[in-house]
Amino acid sequence: MTQPVLSLWINGKAQASAGTRTADVFNPATGQAIRRTPLASKQDVNSAVAAARAAFPGWRDTTPLRRARILMRFRELMQEHRDELVHHTCEEHGKTREDAAGSLQRGIEVIEFAMGAPHLLKGEKAEDVGRGVDCHSLLQPVGVCAGITPFNFPVMVPLWMFPVSIACGNTFILKPSEKVPSASLRMAELFHEAGLPAGVFNVIPGDKEAVDALLTHPDVRAVSFVGSTPVAKYIYETAARHGKRVQALGGAKNHAVVMPDADLDFAADALTGAAYGSAGERCMAISTVVAVGAAGDALVGKLRDKAEKIKVGPGEQEGIDMGPVITAAHRDRVQKLIDSGVTEGAKLVLDGRGLKVSGREQGFYLGPTLFDHVTADMAIYEEEIFGPVLIVLRVKTLDEAIQLVNSNPYGNGTAIFTRSGAHARRFERDIEIGMVGINVPIPVPMAFFSFGGWKASLFGDLHVHGMEGVYFYTRSKVVTSRWPAGEEQGPSSLSMPTLG
Ligand code: NAD
Repeated sequence: MTQPVLSLWINGKAQASAGTRTADVFNPATGQAIRRTPLASKQDVNSAVAAARAAFPGWRDTTPLRRARILMRFRELMQEHRDELVHHTCEEHGKTREDAAGSLQRGIEVIEFAMGAPHLLKGEKAEDVGRGVDCHSLLQPVGVCAGITPFNFPVMVPLWMFPVSIACGNTFILKPSEKVPSASLRMAELFHEAGLPAGVFNVIPGDKEAVDALLTHPDVRAVSFVGSTPVAKYIYETAARHGKRVQALGGAKNHAVVMPDADLDFAADALTGAAYGSAGERCMAISTVVAVGAAGDALVGKLRDKAEKIKVGPGEQEGIDMGPVITAAHRDRVQKLIDSGVTEGAKLVLDGRGLKVSGREQGFYLGPTLFDHVTADMAIYEEEIFGPVLIVLRVKTLDEAIQLVNSNPYGNGTAIFTRSGAHARRFERDIEIGMVGINVPIPVPMAFFSFGGWKASLFGDLHVHGMEGVYFYTRSKVVTSRWPAGEEQGPSSLSMPTLG
């Protein structure tokens, strides 16, 4: 059967690609191809950039208050169309309905943050920085911005970027993951319906060809990226070489440190959700537990009991806790990593390999998997697995735990479970990770704070959304002014001017 082909969204309307390449979009719950997506060509990128460039002067000159009103209407439409966006997410990604709804909500909160544009874009002013001299700063848009997003949050991760960028007066081109294009295209239609002028927001599903065309296009001024570390590094280096500002968020290996003084039932509950929610395909998933001292045996028993009860199946079906992973190839890669854990001598406490869901035998399923007594030289520790696999390492002290976390190349998120304020304070201070939870397993900052990791989890300086997002999407200008009356004019001087 020939599958329907999606469009691109350029200059306020759906358009066919000028190229001929397309890719299958799968429903991972059934394993079937459900539609095809265009893979945007260089010519498509040129059209999108031309539309965004043409729309920029008018949008820049639209007052922040008017921009905010369009964002408010967009937010209302996103709420009205929640079910549809949740369905797109479940169908193309495989998340459960509740999980998809939760991530949609977190994305809508970024629109709510961006609705504060008139306040967010206020600069600073100081009177009398010198005698009769004032100084003020402005935050001005950078121009055409591009966003490149991963498969694992079809709605939320694009929303980390474009509402803030557009609120700041920029125009935007989104290149969503070719595995989950439908939600982004629907958001473009809704934003258009909300009154956004044509060309301000464009969506071009595609792959490396489109990405490379964006990274090298002279009219693209800023690039936001979220995805795996090797691609993040490539994006950062290539876009920077072409003179753009870049924020490139990469992969993760998030550790939770569990102290012997922690409430172990509470910790096991929190960790089960954080490890197996969204089949472990979250950049803030806890994939590694560091059990300190006596915490180990009891904790592993509780984790196994909880993981065993997880119901795996199609995410849109009632009562399902965990859906499939994204592709057959990814399922096979995760299974191979589990094989390697067994070969390398870790203790396999719960084995999710080979799981078949009745009536969905072709779906890309894997059961929850738990390893104990993992060591730092094993592949299951060294690699980002990005599947429903939780590994437990044992250490003797908090010092050892902190050293282990800090030695890991990734630095996205981490958590400590403890009843001791002293342990928590020490951890918060010494840990070299961008987002830290204290008895909170997935410390994803709210929209009015900024989201981002350290080390190999972020290439660039500024995190997404919150005020760092505003600073990323604006250039600051500082104006120093004097209005001399004729008699105040002194003799001209060739020395460095000083004020005060
Ligand atoms: P990915 O790196 O394969 O793809 C991300 C985007 O880059 C997609 O739009 C894809 O089309 C494009 N792309 C892929 N290969 C490319 C190449 N060689 N050249 C140019 N562009 C390319 O990531 P994914 O599999 O879609 O997503 C999962 C990864 O994203 C995981 O590593 C996860 O940790 C990470 N992630 C990180 C965060 C974060 O906030 N740090 C958030 C979500 C996901």
